[in-house]
Amino acid sequence: MAYDADCIFCKIIQNEIPSTVVYEDDVVKAFLDLTQTTPGHTLVVPKTHVADIFAYDADLAAQVFSRIPKIARAIKASDPAIVGMNIINNNGKVASQSVFHSHFHLIPRYSDTDGFG
Ligand code: ADP
Repeated sequence: MAYDADCIFCKIIQNEIPSTVVYEDDVVKAFLDLTQTTPGHTLVVPKTHVADIFAYDADLAAQVFSRIPKIARAIKASDPAIVGMNIINNNGKVASQSVFHSHFHLIPRYSDTDGFG
């Protein structure tokens, strides 16, 4: 499991920085984003430090990607008002990535006027 001492998400994974954990297993940690684009906005983060999607090998991709639907379903099931979800993954500064530890934004949608999109 790669760890980068300068990475804020590595510190969250190690509980060196607090977070509100939504889901956790041996491969990923899912926690609430500090900036709640909509209520329940969650980040799914591989536990191993990997900068972006370009650095995934096939095994890590299979492990991380296969977990996202289950986590998305659990978030949706937590609130009947959630009727949709945007799943976003930014790669590179030009694509608005600001934390260089790969992560997937799970943004619950409540209506077409809920403040996102
Ligand atoms: P952007 O900042 O454009 O959304 P990213 O896709 O890299 O870029 O997303 C990084 C996300 O990490 C941001 O939504 C930000 O709010 C979130 N974030 C930064 N620090 C923390 C933290 N300590 N706990 C939870 N979320 C965090």
